[in-house]
Amino acid sequence: MRKLAKLVKELEQDLLICVRCGTCHAVCPLYNITKDEGDVARGKLSLLDGLIKNLFSKPDQVNKIINKCLLCGSCAASCPSNVNVIQIFIKARIILTQFSKLPLFKKIIFRFFISNPKRFDLGMIILEKFQFLIFANNANKQQTSSYRIFSPTIESRRIKVIAKIPFHKTEYSQNYNLNKSKFKVAFFPGCAFDKIYPKIAIDTIQILKHYGIEIYIPKNQGCCGIPALASGDKESFTKLVSHNIDLFSINGFDYLVTPCATCLTTIKDLWPSIYKPEGRKEEEFLNNLSSKSLDISQFLINILKVSDIGINNDLASVTYHDPCHHKKILNIETEPRKLIKASGNKLVEMEKADSCCGMGGTFNFFHYDESIKIGKLKVENIKKTNCSIVATSCPACMIQLSDILAKQHSGVDVKHPIEIFNQALFNSKK
Ligand code: SF4
Ligand code: SF4
Repeated sequence: MRKLAKLVKELEQDLLICVRCGTCHAVCPLYNITKDEGDVARGKLSLLDGLIKNLFSKPDQVNKIINKCLLCGSCAASCPSNVNVIQIFIKARIILTQFSKLPLFKKIIFRFFISNPKRFDLGMIILEKFQFLIFANNANKQQTSSYRIFSPTIESRRIKVIAKIPFHKTEYSQNYNLNKSKFKVAFFPGCAFDKIYPKIAIDTIQILKHYGIEIYIPKNQGCCGIPALASGDKESFTKLVSHNIDLFSINGFDYLVTPCATCLTTIKDLWPSIYKPEGRKEEEFLNNLSSKSLDISQFLINILKVSDIGINNDLASVTYHDPCHHKKILNIETEPRKLIKASGNKLVEMEKADSCCGMGGTFNFFHYDESIKIGKLKVENIKKTNCSIVATSCPACMIQLSDILAKQHSGVDVKHPIEIFNQALFNSKK
């Protein structure tokens, strides 16, 4: 334990900033349902402080508590002392994982598959071919599937299956050159929009082409690294960041755009702060990449200044759920809403639009009951709006909302703002 205390000591200065005021209790979605001090930022920060002071004898127990967190950033966003909670938790997870070693199944997933983009792509293509053995299609609005056989690990989830053709295998994944283009953008779809929701990546490309934008889409893109990093696996994260930097440093571009809220936060915040650049040049590249990376809605609204495109034959009332990674970490909230309004759709605000949906990446996998309890509170607010569509800009939120709505046999559809906008564009061209 002394060795661990020494390692955690590097967080001491950051931990000292917390004045234990307890403001985070009022906003933590997990604490809201469990009322357990170990689930809220103040409790976890005290625990890390206790580790430095050698107060504990079981590192695995501490690891468990630190990992039971959505990394939603609600605590940091309302902390009067500006404690950088997410950075502290991620660094703590890295230290604890280095000390206790990464479990074998995570090693296989992160180090063997995800950190090798070619192998990961191939694995997902093979899995797609056989997924019918595991999942049964359900006829529901959210197009989710259920498991054929009950298992305690997968429980009663309604899941989004792997798409037949990933985005990177479609004709839309080609570079698109225009001599007279005002802007050149690099496109980072992220794993989920490549493999589960390729239509959203395709919609993004169709919109960019419609506005005559030159598009650079490097082949063999890797995951942004957040699933590995959230599990404390810095080795896989570093490998993936380094791989992606190589791809994106080949060509110059004005902006990097992505439709994924989580990938954007990782690229903007975690690539420069957690990945250790090799030298000054790489550090400058990362900082520069961070400043020119945008959510697709920011690019369309703030840079291209798209406004009303008028007609939408599929006019519907839409409510918007703010992904935590957008609202609480990057302060993005107006642009996705403007995009929905520009599509001609009516936007109806729900209560607590920025409360967490409970997904939290792997949190949902390891703490499904709590994850669903948090998600149900969100779904109640969605239903109160009487909207037929809930839009959100994060694939993880889409998966979580689809699961809960499907289980409730709800007719509310889950969409990305870019799907709504592209549909309106398509209708306006008819
Ligand atoms: S709100 Fe900030 S300062 Fe207050 S207890 Fe939570 S983390 Fe500490
Ligand atoms: S990141 Fe979210 S779940 Fe974790 S302690 Fe903070 S508010 Fe709670």
